Amino acid sequence: MIRYLKSRELFAGIDRMPALGTPVSARTFEVTSPSTGELLAELPDMGVEETRAAIDKAHCAQPGWAALTARERSDILWRWHQLIVDHADDLAAILTAEMGKPLAEAKSEVTHAAAYLQWYAEEANRIYGETISAPSTDRRMLVIKQPIGVVGTITPWNFPASMVARKISPALAAGCTIVLKPAEQTPLVAGAMFALAQLAGFPEGVVNLIYASEGDAIGRELCSNAKVRKISFTGSTEVGRLLMRQCSDQIKKVSLELGGNAPFIVFDDADIDAAVDGAIQAKFRNAGQTCVSANRLYVQSGVHDEFVEKLAEKVCQLSVGDGFDPGVSIGPLIDKRALAKIESHIADAVAKGGIVRRGGDRVGMEGTLFQPTVLTEVSRAMTVAQEETFGPLAPIIRFQDADQVVREANDTIYGLAAYFYASNLKRVWRVAEALEYGMVGINTGRMSSEAAPFGGMKQSGIGREGSRHGLEDYLEMKYLCMGGI
Ligand code: NAP
Repeated sequence: MIRYLKSRELFAGIDRMPALGTPVSARTFEVTSPSTGELLAELPDMGVEETRAAIDKAHCAQPGWAALTARERSDILWRWHQLIVDHADDLAAILTAEMGKPLAEAKSEVTHAAAYLQWYAEEANRIYGETISAPSTDRRMLVIKQPIGVVGTITPWNFPASMVARKISPALAAGCTIVLKPAEQTPLVAGAMFALAQLAGFPEGVVNLIYASEGDAIGRELCSNAKVRKISFTGSTEVGRLLMRQCSDQIKKVSLELGGNAPFIVFDDADIDAAVDGAIQAKFRNAGQTCVSANRLYVQSGVHDEFVEKLAEKVCQLSVGDGFDPGVSIGPLIDKRALAKIESHIADAVAKGGIVRRGGDRVGMEGTLFQPTVLTEVSRAMTVAQEETFGPLAPIIRFQDADQVVREANDTIYGLAAYFYASNLKRVWRVAEALEYGMVGINTGRMSSEAAPFGGMKQSGIGREGSRHGLEDYLEMKYLCMGGI
């Protein structure tokens, strides 16, 4: 991997990071490229003991970090932001090497990660309390906001840079210290970001990184250790449920960003070309491996055939290959399990009457490349309409009735993101308000922004990341009542 890097010396030490402390066990785990299988790094496989030590460090550092002025915390976040911007090419290369996404997408993710640091460097200065008109003249009543304390954070492999930034920048801005465990497949970009955090000047113990291949043991320690006051997790709904249960003994606060099953609805009055472009973005970005990926495409009868034809045509232009190759727009899937899942969804759909209009196969017999696929004649009885596929598969469901489609779109345990295309203003408002989702893209296939609250309803999660609301998730509200005045 090192051959891709400009700052070789800086990142050569990712596997010997001072922030890691001293690994107790001599065990290691390998990080490999999903594209070529190349061994990228061998990292210390840290366990409960190292996690406990990292929590202790974070706990010691927390009062000092919270006691800094907001401006002082903000200055360090700004420096970290600038270092990430300065090293964006290297971070993107590390990301592509370990995760597989095309280099241009990796670069855009790193830019997005830096934008969170910038946003929360600014927001650190805008933590406000309030004064309340007291019901009697001898009292004064007010509310102050204070950091929650040590935060345990766990991140997934699909956005290994931006998920780290989205979680820890509001926590740090609020005055919390953190212990982070990145996903086993993609720890290197997190390691590189932490190397830059060291240069930015965070005091000892404020940011702590745990490399580990066994997420469950680390998760249990973070949830059961009383020094950790909050867990912030992004990943599958299944693991989110488990962590929430583990946190319940101590009534520990949780923020959960979990799975989705996003509907993407195209009404008869939509601009079809714009809807096709939006579907390409919402479905095929990151090879369909995003929590907000369009998972079910509902297209109204009057525009169904035109939409399918235009989408299939655009899909042909997407090129599949190694993320480092110029012009590639779809990289490999993360692993063989992901490949097996998309294949099983297609097989199930075809057995129940679905028609593969484009793609449907692996690219090559080695590796995990899969053709972008368009499937039509899809019905609700198919697995693809019920479960998150997490791959480059666009299943299209034809619908007639506008009210019915909203009911169907809402008929899921998930509530993360939804999209729809329409032009009638009355319909736009009605549908936007009726969709039971934390985020709704209207005539757009892309809506993530550091300035907006990202998060889900129902079993897609608890809390929001990004925007001013993201900061609130790391603050405790304290009411002060002053009597005898
Ligand atoms: P995952 O299996 O839940 O893993 C996510 C993280 O949790 C990884 O760091 C993993 O560590 C760790 N983990 C796994 N089992 C654990 C346990 N028992 N206790 C504590 N930690 C544990 O999810 P994934 O497959 O990596 O990510 C894909 C999922 O994330 C999809 O469902 C996607 O929708 C969701 N996601 C949601 C958002 C959002 O913002 N809502 C964003 C991105 C992804 P190991 O790697 O060591 O197993």
